[in-house]
Amino acid sequence: MSIVIAIDGPAGAGKSTIARRLAARLGYTYIDTGAMYRAVALWALRQSVDLSDMHRLDQLAQAAEIVLDSSRDRVILNAEDVTEAIRTPQVSSAASHVAAVSAVRSALVAKQRAFAETRNVVMEGRDIGTVVFPDARVKIFLDASAGERVRRRAAEDGADPASIASHISDRDRRDQTRGDSPLAQAPDAVYIDSSDLSLEEVEEEILKLVRARTANGKEHH
Ligand code: C5P
Repeated sequence: MSIVIAIDGPAGAGKSTIARRLAARLGYTYIDTGAMYRAVALWALRQSVDLSDMHRLDQLAQAAEIVLDSSRDRVILNAEDVTEAIRTPQVSSAASHVAAVSAVRSALVAKQRAFAETRNVVMEGRDIGTVVFPDARVKIFLDASAGERVRRRAAEDGADPASIASHISDRDRRDQTRGDSPLAQAPDAVYIDSSDLSLEEVEEEILKLVRARTANGKEHH
């Protein structure tokens, strides 16, 4: 059995940065599951698919060939590099609509489980500890205050804080209230509020947990 470190939490809590660093430290593969929902959303937008057309979205999710090239930090959709194209506010919003469709989720969850069959992973998302890997070795629910999450996103994107705030809260509400796999903390996840912590502090806290639950992170399947 390979080792899964699951990191869930709301938008802008710092999951990607932390997950990427942890994976590098441990020699695990970093898997950004949000990028997969974004890739399906981008394809749907380009095809002008109605975001409430569950059948078409299911077809797209099944047919999408998504490659997460973690060594080069690129996201490939149907042989096209979409790393930058999936980061627009329009795709963020569409992703959270697409992610509410059960058939889309089951297609992507199957791919996510397959990634971890042969390697140790740090997997980031909304439902990793609750649904994708309920038996993950370490589960983290990474949170930060709303103000801090907006501030970090604004610093990253250079966008207007007021519009970031409303986009993030719309997206979190959709992610928390959907029927299938809503954003939630698993009962056995460790809650970390990163609002007043540095990156290094968050990383150390998680590494301590990983060390306690693995043979110093070096265990192999
Ligand atoms: O993490 P990121 O912001 O890139 O995710 C984009 C959207 O994809 C989220 O707002 C959420 O709707 C969806 N998502 C999800 N389950 C995951 C990862 C992302 O529903 N495991």
